[in-house]
Amino acid sequence: MKANHFSERLDEMRRILIDVDTRRILNWGYNVKLCYFVNTLAKTVVLLKSTTGTLEIDSYGRVTLPLEMLEQVSWGVGDIVNASLNVNANTLKLSIGEKNIPKCVLCERPEKVITINGKDVCKHCAADISRAKV
Ligand SMILES: [Zn+2]
Repeated sequence: MKANHFSERLDEMRRILIDVDTRRILNWGYNVKLCYFVNTLAKTVVLLKSTTGTLEIDSYGRVTLPLEMLEQVSWGVGDIVNASLNVNANTLKLSIGEKNIPKCVLCERPEKVITINGKDVCKHCAADISRAKV
């Protein structure tokens, strides 16, 4: 018996992979359309098969989560998404696991960073750089 929970990292294209066993249990094949319901208070999302759904499972079993959904639940690229199956309702409930906290490329402090030329730098290191004599 397969566990009814799994975790997936939200990739840079905002996709999560739904493994083949899970899709088999839910009877979700490729190119199945899904609709979703967002609970903004609990910060959870329920995925449900629907012919009028706007989400689609691609040929690799991935679903792209729309930006507006991610904003509603405050999820971002790199976050871990926990998924749990409800076999009776044929739904997949998503919730957030470990948040991806960007690290400073210089000191590796996991805190709020500013991006300079595509690199994440913390405010301490940014201040050091600004004081550096060139
Ligand atoms: Zn730093």
